[in-house]
Amino acid sequence: MSSDCIFCRIAAGEIPARLARQDEEIVAFHDVAPQAPVHLLVIPRRHLARLDQTTPQDAALLGRMVRTAIELATETGCADGFRLVWNCGEPAGQSVFHLHLHLLGGRPMSWPPG
Ligand code: 5GP
Ligand code: ZN
Repeated sequence: MSSDCIFCRIAAGEIPARLARQDEEIVAFHDVAPQAPVHLLVIPRRHLARLDQTTPQDAALLGRMVRTAIELATETGCADGFRLVWNCGEPAGQSVFHLHLHLLGGRPMSWPPG
């Protein structure tokens, strides 16, 4: 855990968040500034700063994060159409440097993204 990382602190229960799910490896919670009616963040408890800092050994973790997001799409009623987003690096819009997968749903979405 990184004590100056906001998502590590949410995972540790030190900063409040609206939790959607948690287990020994993964935590999911509602985004504080939602960009859609459903906007959840799925994170690993382990501090990994960026998607490109994962290794082949993290493949199962990444797969579990994706599966968790899919299940949460069903639980939140947006299984008919949702978007999963990984922002990797500042130019791509990453602002919190603890790996997270966005689940967005509940409204029509356009393409390409901004
Ligand atoms: P990024 O821009 O790094 O891909 O996404 C970071 C996300 O984390 C943003 O959508 C932002 O609203 C959300 N966020 C930042 N700080 C907090 C926080 O303290 N609590 C929660 N629940 N979400 C946060
Ligand atoms: Zn962290």
